[in-house]
Amino acid sequence: MKFEDFSVIDLVEGIKNKVFTSEAVVKYFVQRCEQFKDLNAVIEVFDDVVEKAKTIDERIARGEKLGLLVGVPVAIKDNIACKGKKMGCASKFMQDYVSPYSATIIKKLEAEDAIIFGRTNMDEFAMGGSCEKSCYGACKNAFNSCKVAGGSSGGSAVAVAAGLCPAAIGTDTGGSVRQPASFNGVVGIKPTYGTVSRFGLVAFASSTDQAAPITKTVEDNELILSIMSGKDINDATTIDNAVFDEVDKQAYKIGICKQLKDEIEKLEYYDNFKKVLAQFEKLGCEIVEVDVPHIEHSLACYYIVTPAEAASNLARFDGVKYTTRSQEAKNLEEVYVKSRSEGFGLEVKRRIITGNFVLSSGFLDAYYKKAKRLQGLLKREFEKAFESCDVILTPTTPGEAFDIGGKSQDPIAMYLEDVFTVPASIAGIPALNIPFGKGKNGLPLGYQLMGPEKREDMLYDIAKMFEKQTKVEGGIQ
Ligand code: GLN
Repeated sequence: MKFEDFSVIDLVEGIKNKVFTSEAVVKYFVQRCEQFKDLNAVIEVFDDVVEKAKTIDERIARGEKLGLLVGVPVAIKDNIACKGKKMGCASKFMQDYVSPYSATIIKKLEAEDAIIFGRTNMDEFAMGGSCEKSCYGACKNAFNSCKVAGGSSGGSAVAVAAGLCPAAIGTDTGGSVRQPASFNGVVGIKPTYGTVSRFGLVAFASSTDQAAPITKTVEDNELILSIMSGKDINDATTIDNAVFDEVDKQAYKIGICKQLKDEIEKLEYYDNFKKVLAQFEKLGCEIVEVDVPHIEHSLACYYIVTPAEAASNLARFDGVKYTTRSQEAKNLEEVYVKSRSEGFGLEVKRRIITGNFVLSSGFLDAYYKKAKRLQGLLKREFEKAFESCDVILTPTTPGEAFDIGGKSQDPIAMYLEDVFTVPASIAGIPALNIPFGKGKNGLPLGYQLMGPEKREDMLYDIAKMFEKQTKVEGGIQ
């Protein structure tokens, strides 16, 4: 059986009903990872996965109660802690780190009998938009190995798109789930801030980061996010958010942000965007214009607030705990300075320096505090915009996946990739990537639905309608 064509939900059904075993499924994906090793998407398949699958099959044979993800392998980004496994954050600084405990989301997935399958490639410490800045080397796009995977959760997106694993978990601070999902034609969400616990995750910007699933179908995504979500005593920022789609609405109002119109009309694939609008109209949705007056400043705001948080969050990686220590260090100060200088990559250093700059006395008011005020303003502007529409639609990225090496020397060009994804991150609202169509290089294009806080249910409902219709009409697959 070609298990790579199965959705998570189909695999669960098949395993539960003994059409095939979890062992067969897991072994199949282990073999796929071996076969497509060159993609550099899955950097380690855990050595206990077949054993775990066998145990699950035995439980099924005994007629025991089974979880919602029974026997299905789920890969995790290399910044998510899983007890007894390595977690490297794609940094040579962290390469030897073995986690002594599991992240809350791992426990939740395991409680539903998922098999944590292995680690996926990423940009170092989740900073980046291409999955090239990794100590394991660049991850390649599932459709063309000369193109980037997108980042930072590129490994997770490629693993799903290339059929190396039926689902994978990424983390999204400013687009790191949505952008690689878009580049590889799969579904990825950034949930409302607080929906998913960050306990056991290495997040570089705590105020926007959320872990989330990358899947082939909208329904799979919804199922996995609903399992991962919920209040956690170990993360005070978590909220109750039901996630599951219970809405039954037909005619949605889809908002187009006036302030992004020029930007969107200039895009190479504007024609494809118009086709997306036509699909929504066919579904009975109404397209309306809405205002988010300061949305254009989101990118600047994001690249001030998140480096500031990165500078403080990464202070603990000092060559004493977690990370490797410089062999050259002769005293305590040198342990810090040399270990960090040798351990961190260039992009991480750039953000730490920028972050410390915007937080330093004399500049705090001019940059960081101003950006935080703008963040509050954007939140309110989105709330207001959602009074006149249900969701806001944008492209997820300015174009299809670019060449490997094409932007790696130009940080600003790389940051500009995030222009459509960061507004939802700054405002803390949910945003979902859905694939539709391909660009001139034959690579997938993706579109983003942003919704009001805690309205993942609505995003999933609209995306399911869209997916159903576009599949019939020859969407991506
Ligand atoms: N490209 C963005 C950045 O480099 C997104 C990163 C993320 O979401 N983790 O900050």
